Amino acid sequence: MRYLVTGGAGFIGFHLSRTLLQNGHDVLCIDNLSTGQASNLAALSDFSAFTFIRQDVTEPFFCDADAIFNLACPASPVHYQRTPVDTLKTAVIGTLNALELARQQSIPMLQASTSEVYGDPAVHPQHEGYQGSVSITGPRACYDEGKRCAETLCFDFQRQYQVDVKVARIFNTYGPGMAPDDGRVIMNLINQALADEPLTLYGDGQQTRSFCYVDDLVAGLIKLLGLTQQISEPVNLGNPEELRIIDLANHILKLTNSRSELTFSPLPVDDPHQRCPDIALAETLLGWTPRIPLQQGLLRVIQSIRNR
Ligand code: UDP
Repeated sequence: MRYLVTGGAGFIGFHLSRTLLQNGHDVLCIDNLSTGQASNLAALSDFSAFTFIRQDVTEPFFCDADAIFNLACPASPVHYQRTPVDTLKTAVIGTLNALELARQQSIPMLQASTSEVYGDPAVHPQHEGYQGSVSITGPRACYDEGKRCAETLCFDFQRQYQVDVKVARIFNTYGPGMAPDDGRVIMNLINQALADEPLTLYGDGQQTRSFCYVDDLVAGLIKLLGLTQQISEPVNLGNPEELRIIDLANHILKLTNSRSELTFSPLPVDDPHQRCPDIALAETLLGWTPRIPLQQGLLRVIQSIRNR
């Protein structure tokens, strides 16, 4: 198979592309390197079946492919809020361009959506039927609303043009190979702990997240795109092992033997207070469940940063 992976130089895109290449497939990556890493491209370029095109997905793109993974979009709150208009354009116009290609070529597409479509959720854990509680105008809206609109486009292309599109709602994901300046909590706290600097906790640290190791997520994405039946709803992919951010920080202190202290600063605007996926649908449809426990995954990330 020849896969187009938009955003293939990013964190998840890199792991996905590498797995596809290792499984004997061809991968064509389109990325504008706004948050993707050159080091990821260098590693993928070791595979002769890998091709890279530097392009912004907001410009239409054409290529021969058998299937599309549409992952291009900054995903870390610090990154996507830095240039919010670009984020919104990437989420919406980038997805429109990918869907047009899928339609023209009659090929399947997987859309990388997000748990952010649930906003600061009033329903817990979040199941796919929950409509979410999202600010329309706040600083996260460029990403949240962009991804919500992208989902709408996906199911409209399915209804109107019979495009075979699958939508994965990806919850917090981590693993080796995150950019040093990723800005999300696991990368920040591990970097700080290893440098014996204070660990920055936003708010009182009582907010919760559920972290999925990247290899587990990639397995779910590949399974979902590979489903032959039409799926007319999004599918949550994440690890339901939920914990408070303050517990994550203490866990990281222990695993790194760090002497760092905790410092507290205000919770960012619209920061969700709780998040945990209900993955019953993914378990039933895909026979998928995450396998890597948080402690094991964190140790792998710590080791990879030490090796760097
Ligand atoms: N967070 C934190 N310290 C940091 C970075 C993030 O306490 O250095 C908090 C953030 O406010 C949020 C949670 O950790 O409540 C997860 O944030 P992240 O940016 O990783 O992803 P999000 O789930 O918010 O998209």
